[in-house]
Amino acid sequence: MKVLKFGGTSVGSAKRFKEVARIVTSGGKDIVVLSAMSGTTNTLVEISGYLYNHNLDGARDTIASLHTQYNCVIKELFEKKESIQKAQAYIDGVFQLLADITRESSFTEVQERIILSQGELMSTFLMTTYLQELGFHVRLLPALSFMRTDAQGEPDMESIKVSLDQLLEKERGADFYVTQGYICMNARDEVDNLKRGGSDYSACIIGAVTGAEEIQIWTDIDGMHNNDPRVVENTSAVRHLHFDEAAELAYFGAKILHPTCILPARYANIPVRLLNTMEPSAPGTLIDSVPDSGVIKAVAAKDNIVAIKIKSSRMLLAYGFLRKVFEIFESYRTSIDMICTSEVGVSLTIDDTRYLGEIVHDLKKYGTVSVDLDMCIVCIVGDMDWANCGFESKVMNAVKDIPVRMVSYGGSNYNISLLVREEDKEATLRSLSKNLFE
Ligand code: ADP
Ligand code: ASP
Ligand code: MG
Repeated sequence: MKVLKFGGTSVGSAKRFKEVARIVTSGGKDIVVLSAMSGTTNTLVEISGYLYNHNLDGARDTIASLHTQYNCVIKELFEKKESIQKAQAYIDGVFQLLADITRESSFTEVQERIILSQGELMSTFLMTTYLQELGFHVRLLPALSFMRTDAQGEPDMESIKVSLDQLLEKERGADFYVTQGYICMNARDEVDNLKRGGSDYSACIIGAVTGAEEIQIWTDIDGMHNNDPRVVENTSAVRHLHFDEAAELAYFGAKILHPTCILPARYANIPVRLLNTMEPSAPGTLIDSVPDSGVIKAVAAKDNIVAIKIKSSRMLLAYGFLRKVFEIFESYRTSIDMICTSEVGVSLTIDDTRYLGEIVHDLKKYGTVSVDLDMCIVCIVGDMDWANCGFESKVMNAVKDIPVRMVSYGGSNYNISLLVREEDKEATLRSLSKNLFE
């Protein structure tokens, strides 16, 4: 059994739904994970924004135009009257729920997350109904009855495995299964989600708990490119990545993968293949546990980074000092991405700035604190085993004209990270492509 995940663009129109159905029905007894149709989650975020701002007209107009869009998809997708009626009744029910929420006296985060879950609920209902119209015995596995996060907001793998095994056992006779990406229940039994882009994470979690033969992430590009194609021209697909390389690229900004989705696949040692729905026969990128030696594979960048420097003349690097610094970040549940130390100072980066003021306040106990905003981590990934010579100079040579605030190397065998100003990101990515890949 394989897990096939199709992203928003892959189910972006009635025509694309039919294309996905062709891919799905030519495979085996697989689990198909779908995102919302492209644009839907953004529109649902927009509706929530209007409701937070008490702009009911804005919310209702946006709901109405989204409803019209879905009505058009139904008209184009189905042929049989029963399918049209079934799909229309479901979609109308979703828009009734949205309308009901706009009439409530207050708007909470819980309601927001219910709104955000509707995109995946609609796309999977439409796909299941379409596959049934084509005559297949397909079962919809409701993600809200098996996908669950724990009190820390992390996937509760044990519980997911037990619930999903039970569901699959019950639906043993199906030709294949369809389920929602992104959405889950949390430890408080509320509807929640795995953060934006989370359908990739759903697919990898499902692949890991079911011991799938392969996890396929179908998207709108022919695999992981060696640089961000939205910023740099002439990027090319990387055919093979080690799990650790893919995990670094995803975490440090390669949008094609959710930041932490590789972890469950790596843990369960299940190969992940990135494939292009627009060009199904292209080879894509294979991600597995086989290393390649001596090559720099790709570059990615993560924006909205803040660098914090703590400078102290006496205590610094005395034993226990770093622990105290880390405890401050831990107490605000803020994770650190990069760290560099010297005898007189330590610099760290974070991307979650919710508690920046409090963190800086607490750090001032230990030294002089300075903050650089609007920074960007550029991560270069490949075989960076320290026994190999020369790759550091290639990287540093590529950024010789760019001010670099921090350099981190040696944390893993797969990565060198540079911290630059966000305004220098484009120049940095272009120069790295030119020096490393051309
Ligand atoms: P989906 O909706 O299928 O989940 P996403 O938009 O989340 O698709 O991810 C695919 C997009 O990621 C591509 O269209 C591309 O613009 C962007 N992207 C950013 N960095 C990379 C990269 N290194 N390789 C491939 N795509 C990338
Ligand atoms: N629909 C969600 C989003 O747009 C999840 C996903 O597409 O992976 O973020
Ligand atoms: Mg995505």
